[in-house]
Amino acid sequence: VTFDKIDISSVLRDILPIINNQAVLHNVTIQYQSVYQIPKIIADRELLKQVFINLCKNGIEAMTQGGTLTIIEKIDARARKVHVEVQDSGAGIPAYLIDKIFDPFFTTKDSGTGLGLSVCQRIIHDIGGSIRVSSKGFGTTFTVIVPFSPS
Ligand code: ADP
Ligand code: MG
Repeated sequence: VTFDKIDISSVLRDILPIINNQAVLHNVTIQYQSVYQIPKIIADRELLKQVFINLCKNGIEAMTQGGTLTIIEKIDARARKVHVEVQDSGAGIPAYLIDKIFDPFFTTKDSGTGLGLSVCQRIIHDIGGSIRVSSKGFGTTFTVIVPFSPS
């Protein structure tokens, strides 16, 4: 693990081709909205890639009839935090399951490991961030929130 001052937009740009390959197979369109000169964060670049690949993969897998995966960067200048939202237009997560999805080995998939989200959460917690989930009937949004690096 190597912590560096990194540009989260460049991490997302790096994984877009990987995500896009999978999206095409599932009839999914990718939309990406980045922030110009986004403030840097402290993280391990490879681990961060893993987080967004996992979140995007889950989103794509949730869209069994195709749809749109939207990745949006936002800045919370007041709290000095970067937000990255990963939204899908898929099946959504029923309210009674939402508290379980970050548990290791929790999966609703025939061949899922149930480890993706627990690993994502640990990686983000380790850099002082958090992951929120919101799913209200249609589609799901995961938001990764990470503090700016100290300036
Ligand atoms: P896996 O993908 O191997 O099942 P994860 O930890 O990545 O394991 O996800 C756990 C569970 O959370 C999934 O099986 C699924 O039920 C639910 N889930 C995660 N992301 C989404 C999403 N975008 N839409 C609907 N359900 C999701
Ligand atoms: Mg997964």
